[in-house]
Amino acid sequence: MPPRLSRPRRESVRRRLLEWYGKSRRDLPWRRSDDPYRIWLSETMLQQTRVETVVPYYRRFLERFPDLRSLALADEQDVLKQWEGLGYYSRARNLKRAAEMVLRDHGGRVPSDPEALGSLPGIGRYTSGAIRSIAFKQPAPVVDGNVKRVLARLLAEPGLSETRLWELAGQLVEGEHPDLLNQALMELGATVCVPRNPLCSTCPLRRGCAGAATGRPEDFPARAPRPPPRAVRALGGILRSRGRLLLMRRPSRGLLGGLWEIPSVPGDDPGTLVEALRERTGLGSRAGAALGEVRHVFTHRDLTLRVVELERDGGRKRAPAGDAEALWCGSAEIARLPLSRLMHKVLELAER
Ligand code: SF4
Repeated sequence: MPPRLSRPRRESVRRRLLEWYGKSRRDLPWRRSDDPYRIWLSETMLQQTRVETVVPYYRRFLERFPDLRSLALADEQDVLKQWEGLGYYSRARNLKRAAEMVLRDHGGRVPSDPEALGSLPGIGRYTSGAIRSIAFKQPAPVVDGNVKRVLARLLAEPGLSETRLWELAGQLVEGEHPDLLNQALMELGATVCVPRNPLCSTCPLRRGCAGAATGRPEDFPARAPRPPPRAVRALGGILRSRGRLLLMRRPSRGLLGGLWEIPSVPGDDPGTLVEALRERTGLGSRAGAALGEVRHVFTHRDLTLRVVELERDGGRKRAPAGDAEALWCGSAEIARLPLSRLMHKVLELAER
């Protein structure tokens, strides 16, 4: 298939992008470093997350884990605690596992080779491209939502496939300064070629932009309607003993994996909750007063968690089933354990 951007046009786009980025780039903390670990961390945190949200997390994370070795040797619970509130916790678990692998298999140096990078958990084509281009100055393309939008509008072709997008991004990044070029493309998508009301009049790519020429740049790329998150219900129980609260660690994999929560079950049946608690911990209980409901919207789920008091009723705590854990927690332990936003809302409810 012939290139959709001729060589002279590519050169012109590159030149204008680099010039614009030199003048307009935002001063972000990860842009002050070429350290592959820091680049990797920032790109991982930035997935599905806004820059303004990431900045304080990025700073705090580096204070706690300033280099790859400190992350590799850390306790996963401490890593999750630093990630608390940022969401998509598998990113943190994968980052920690990948750091361990880099320490073990690569002497603690982040590999620059695409195959080695791609074999690490959590590193897909995008993150690999970002690390290779920004940290190692390799002409590796990146295509995230921002780049996709800029390229789709520049060409104004409906149905531009992922393969073609990567090919185009690969053609653009060929040449000097692949690090700056990729960051310029992403920055343009984040600050100028934004999803709604793109700022075409101030855009360095305005001349020759097919999307802007149609007068309807927002039509590109074509958007498939996203199904709304599925409404689900769950029931959770507040069980106290001598001023402490029973919390359980979720299994390491899956949604909110490794985080701590009150005992809970899908659905709305107190009998199921009591039975599950007995099965998992040996503790007998009965459901008491309703405390209220907490709602939290995840990407694919709109969860309403009804919270009830649980009262002790026989049984004795034993080691929980599976790879979960259960702990009686005072306020000091609760502050130390990684909890989801949902669980913080539940604890607020329980304190009222
Ligand atoms: S001119 Fe408008 S549509 Fe084209 S790349 Fe720039 S901001 Fe996007």
